[in-house]
Amino acid sequence: MAQDTVFSKIVRREIPSDILYQDDLVTAFRDINPRAPSHVLIVPNREIPTVNDIENDDEAALGRMFTVARKLAKQEGLQDDGYRLVVNCNAYGGQDVYHLHMHLVGGRPLGPMML
Ligand code: IMP
Repeated sequence: MAQDTVFSKIVRREIPSDILYQDDLVTAFRDINPRAPSHVLIVPNREIPTVNDIENDDEAALGRMFTVARKLAKQEGLQDDGYRLVVNCNAYGGQDVYHLHMHLVGGRPLGPMML
């Protein structure tokens, strides 16, 4: 069974966060430690720990994450200059919070992807 992470508590509005968007499938909120002028996290409301744990029934939520990313990128004024969407998986991928999330990062040149 998935652990109850800080992101599930944010989804359920049990702890404070700067929520930008929420619907029946996903929630988006500002990263507490922004690495760029805009840094938003988009999460499925269901606590999927990692990309490895995605199930076929999650496809609607995963698709919604992208459409919400597009809308928020526009809302944040990022769409013309561009932005980056990142999903980390497990330790080597740099994942710290084990509730699947997409980083939407922009507002400055991000340079080449660090590998
Ligand atoms: P990860 O390394 O891909 O797992 O990214 C986790 C992100 O969650 C980091 O960018 C953190 O700054 C962010 N984060 C951790 N706790 C909170 C919180 O309570 N609110 C908002 N963002 C958080």
